[in-house]
Amino acid sequence: MSDKSDIPYQSPLVPNLLAESDLIQFRCHKGIACFNECCRNIDITLTPYDLLRLKQRLELSSKELLNQYTLPFEMDAHGTPGVKLKPVEGGTACQFMTEDGCSVYEDRPTACRYYPLGLMSIRKSGEYSDEQGFALVKEDHCLGHNEDRTLTIQEYREEQGVEEYDELTREWRRLILKKKSAGPSIGKPPEMSLQLFFMASYNVDQFQQFVTSEQFLGTYQLEPDLIESLKTDQLEVIKFGARLLKQVLFGEITIEVVSGATEKRVQRQKARAEELRELARKQAEADTKAAEGKGS
Ligand code: SF4
Ligand code: SF4
Repeated sequence: MSDKSDIPYQSPLVPNLLAESDLIQFRCHKGIACFNECCRNIDITLTPYDLLRLKQRLELSSKELLNQYTLPFEMDAHGTPGVKLKPVEGGTACQFMTEDGCSVYEDRPTACRYYPLGLMSIRKSGEYSDEQGFALVKEDHCLGHNEDRTLTIQEYREEQGVEEYDELTREWRRLILKKKSAGPSIGKPPEMSLQLFFMASYNVDQFQQFVTSEQFLGTYQLEPDLIESLKTDQLEVIKFGARLLKQVLFGEITIEVVSGATEKRVQRQKARAEELRELARKQAEADTKAAEGKGS
C-alpha cells in the first residue's frame, strides 16, 4: 500500500484532482482474491492523530509506540521529520496484518482508510489557501477496481471514517504544506524547531509534559480551561501542538507570551552563568591553596 497523500505539487503539471462528488468504482472485502495484498508492502506516513489512535488502542507510551511500530524519515529537503509505519522485521508487510485482515482495523491510519484514494493538498504558486482533492491510485495487485460497485468519493470517505481523521489533522497538514511550499527560500529551520516539530507531532506524552510544565506555563499565557484539558486530554495536546508549531515556525501568533517572560529567562540564564563563574573561581582558589600547601 503506497502513501500518495499530501503531495504539494509545485510543478505546472498539476494532476487532475477528483472532487468529493466524483464517482469511483471500487469495493474491498474479505472474500476478494487479493485480500491483504495491499498490506504486504507498506509505505504509510502517519499523522499525529493516527499515532494517538494507535497508542490508545495498543495501550502503549509514545516512546514504546515509536520504537516498535514506526520508522523516522525526512519529509522535505530541510529535514522536517516524519514517521512511517515500520514493517515486520526483515520484511515489507505491516506488523498489524493478520490472516483475518488488519488487527487494528477500527484505529487504522488515515492512508489505509483512504486507499485506493490519496488525499491531495495543493497550494498553487502565489495563492494563500490550499485546494484539496483526491487522486485514484490503481495498483495491479488490487482487484477492488474490478468489483461491481460505484459510489462517490464522499460516500467512500464516510464509509471509511476518514472525516474525523481529516478534521483532527487539518491544521497540521496545512502546516506541512506551507512548509513544503515555502521551498528553500525560508532556509533550514534551526535544529531546536525540528526537535519541537517531532515532539509536538509524534511524541504526545513528552509534548504533554512539556506544555504543562512550570517553565512553559511561565512563558506562555494559557486559559485555565486549556491548561486543564492539556493535562487530561491528549487529543487537545495534539491540536495545541499544531497551534504552537504555527507560531514557532511561521510567526502566526495565537498564544500570548507572559509579559516579561523573555527578560526573566535571560535573567535566570545570567544568574546561572554567574553561579558557574563563582564556582569556577572558588575551585581555582582552592587549587591554588592546595598547590601552595604542597610547595611549602
Ligand atoms: S494498519 Fe492495517 S490496513 Fe494499514 S497496512 Fe497495516 S494491516 Fe493494512
Ligand atoms: S481490494 Fe485492494 S484494498 Fe482490498 S484487499 Fe485487495 S488489494 Fe487491498
